[in-house]
This record gives sequence, structure tokens and C-alpha cells, in this order.
Amino acid sequence: MKVLVAGGGIGGLTTALSLHAAGIDCEVYEGTAEMKPLGVGINVLPHAVRELTELGLADQLAATGIPTRELRYITMHGQLVWQEPRGRAAGYNWPQYSIHRGRLQMLLWQVARERLAGRLHTAKRAAASRQDAHGATLHFTDGSSATGDAIVGADGIHSAIRAERHPNEGPPRWKGAVLWRATSIAPAFLDGATMIQCGHHNLKFVCYPIANNPDGTQLINWIAERILPADTAWNREDWNRGGSLDDVIPHYRDWSWDWLDVPALMARAQSVYEFPMVDRDPLEQWSVGRITLLGDAAHPMYPIGSNGASQAILDARVLAMHLKRGATVEAGLAAYDAARRPPTAALTLANRGLGPDIILERTHERAPQGFKHIHDVMPEAELRETAARYKQLAGFDPELLNERESHSA
Ligand SMILES: Cc1cc2nc3c(=O)[nH]c(=O)nc-3n(C[C@H](O)[C@H](O)[C@H](O)COP(=O)(O)OP(=O)(O)OC[C@H]3O[C@@H](n4cnc5c(N)ncnc54)[C@H](O)[C@@H]3O)c2cc1C
Repeated sequence: MKVLVAGGGIGGLTTALSLHAAGIDCEVYEGTAEMKPLGVGINVLPHAVRELTELGLADQLAATGIPTRELRYITMHGQLVWQEPRGRAAGYNWPQYSIHRGRLQMLLWQVARERLAGRLHTAKRAAASRQDAHGATLHFTDGSSATGDAIVGADGIHSAIRAERHPNEGPPRWKGAVLWRATSIAPAFLDGATMIQCGHHNLKFVCYPIANNPDGTQLINWIAERILPADTAWNREDWNRGGSLDDVIPHYRDWSWDWLDVPALMARAQSVYEFPMVDRDPLEQWSVGRITLLGDAAHPMYPIGSNGASQAILDARVLAMHLKRGATVEAGLAAYDAARRPPTAALTLANRGLGPDIILERTHERAPQGFKHIHDVMPEAELRETAARYKQLAGFDPELLNERESHSA
């Protein structure tokens, strides 16, 4: 069996490594001419770290990212609402990593190049996919084509493979939130391994370290999220679009606390990117015969709750497992669809609500000026229950993960 993978992002490359580990031949076709470490920070949840560990990448991950120990929810006044352990500290057998998205992609690219010599191709932009009873053909924008037994569209939020099947879907759905994403080099805050989510629905700030520097400083990722008026025209989503600090710093002027000075951290940004918070409605089918979708091409979701890359990694491993076990290519892809579409659809819809941030929103509604003690605003039981709800949906249960069978094919 030979699988043609359109897209060499985190999803496409993990697919290639997983297929290779399962003994299935594959070729990866990446649209860009040159691989560069693009993007800023992302989080790879223990579920996905487990998968990458089973692919033999544990040491490289540990050398590249920061194992996140804690998540704290903080008000716009710098007050702690809730804190919970993450990764191994939460009882998982695998860490959670906060990591530079581009460095992770380059790591996967290098390993895939070593393991799948000659099977990774750049400057090959997928334009169309075709299939018949005997195989599948991927056509590229340069007029060339490749043939195999199956096609995986892992070509991101503007997937050509998805658009071909859903020509009337239109642009991704935007409801007014814009993210400014950046990294700053700065001294560590808190214990140097904590992620913070601060503010409320209309003005949010998320921040976590993604690398240690030899001089003791850290590379700190931050995301500022603002809701713009409903009639604002915004730019098309492009992960590489530059943004301006002038659009964010003034809104966070008062967010300076004794343990973190948000505007000062922002002012140290190396470069800033803007991205509208977009997603798409869940599809009723990903796999049609020999062709399927994966990662952002299959389930673009709001980039909250650390699920973008993590879910793509899970897709990749489950896809390879079912292709290996399936009686036919079509049966394998159908089983993958049945396993992965419902949970990712539920997450997409959950992220449209307040996702994991509901705890902050409730606190802000009840005590917009701050509080003396958090329990004056929300009793312990409600805090615990609110924090647990999103985690349940996202499958954040250490016991379930630790005891689940491996996806290794
Ligand atoms: C440049 C870039 C920067 C990003 N930065 C961030 C970030 O800072 N924070 C964050 O949360 N998420 C970021 N993302 C998105 C994040 O990587 C994904 O949500 C997640 O990792 C799922 O990965 P994916 O492989 O499905 O999609 P992607 O990571 O988007 O990868 C898709 C890949 O397919 C390639 N491609 C696109 N169209 C075609 C085509 N027609 N033919 C062949 N190849 C094609 C793209 O060049 C890309 O390499 C970024 C994505 C990109 C492409």
C-alpha cells in the first residue's frame, strides 16, 4: 500500500512517521518551497506526547520544549482564580510540552527525512484528488501528479482537498475575535514552567514559556485576544501575517502585577502575528473511498485548549493504525473517520463556547473589580466542577490515557 500525504505540517509529518512505523509506504507533498520554523508557541498535550513518544521522539521533544507543570487562571487584576497541575504533575505518564510550533515541525521534518529517505517533497502544492477502484491520483498545481492507494489531505485550514469536495463551503467562520501572537525573551515568571490564562471573554491574555535560553532567560510565548466590533472587516486568516503592538499594548496598560508585567513583556516581542479566531462547521464525512482529511483540513477549530496540533497528532496515529488493520484501504479510512470525527467535532463546538475559559468569564461577571477571596465569588465545588467540564470533553483524564491501549499499529 502507498499513501500520498498532501501537506507537511505537524499532522502530515506525524502521519508519514506513523505510516512508516506501521510498515506502510508513503510520500509527503508539501506546498511550500522551503521548510522554515514558522509560527510561535503551541502546546502538545500528554495524549499527543504519548503518540510522539511511541514514534521514538521523547528525547528530541524534551530537548526542544518546556514540560508544563501547571495551568493558572488569572483575572485581569492579576488575581488567581484556579490552578491545576499539568502533564506528569497531573498524573499522566507523559509530559505536556509547551513548544515552538516551527521547531516541532522542523524536528518532525528532520526525523521523517531520515526515516523516509527521498519520500518528502517540497514545492508540491496539491490541487486535486481523483480515485477509482484501483487507486488514487494526486494532481499538483505545477501540472504533475502522483499515484498511490490512498490520499490524506493534511493541507491545513485552506485545504485544497477539502475545498474540492465542499466547493460551496466558503471562508472559515469568524465571530469577531482576533489573536495577536508573539514570543518575547524575558526572565522566567512564576516557576518557569507555568501556563497562564488571564482576563475575560472580551480581553484575554495567554502566556507560557517555550524554551530556556543559556543566559537564564526564557523564550516566552504570548497571545493577546480581543473581540472587535461586529461590523469590523478583518484580514483573511494567514498564520504568517504580521501584526502591530499598537493594536494590543494600550488595551493591557493596567495589567502589571508584581509577578508579571504584561505590557513590558509585550514590548519585548521579537515579532508579532495577527490571526482571526476562525473555525469551520464539523463535516459529516472525512473519508470518501480512498481519500480522507486530517488535522486542520478535517477539523479547523479555535486555537484554544491546546488542541490544534495535539488532535492532528492523534488523527495521524489512529489513521495509520486503521490503515494497517483494515481489510481494505476504504475500510481502514472509514474506521479512522468513525474513530476521530465525533470527538474532534465535539471539541470544535466546545471551543465555540467559552472552551476552558468559562471559569474566568464567570468570575469576571460576578466580580469585575476583583475580589478579596475567590471563594466569595465562586465556591470551591463550583470552581472544581467548572474546571473539570472542558477537561472531560477533551478527554483530559490521566487514568484513561495511562491505561488505554497503544495506537501503535
Ligand atoms: C506557517 C504556520 C504557522 C502556524 N502557527 C501557529 C501558531 O503560532 N499557533 C497555533 O496555534 N497554530 C499555528 N499553526 C497551525 C497549527 O500548526 C495547526 O493548527 C496544527 O498543528 C494542525 O496541523 P496541520 O498539519 O493539520 O496543519 P498546518 O500546520 O497548517 O499544516 C498544513 C501544511 O500543509 C501545507 N499546505 C497547505 N496547502 C497545501 C497544498 N495545497 N498542498 C500541499 N501542502 C499544502 C502548509 O504549507 C503546511 O505546511 C500554524 C500553521 C502554519 C502553516
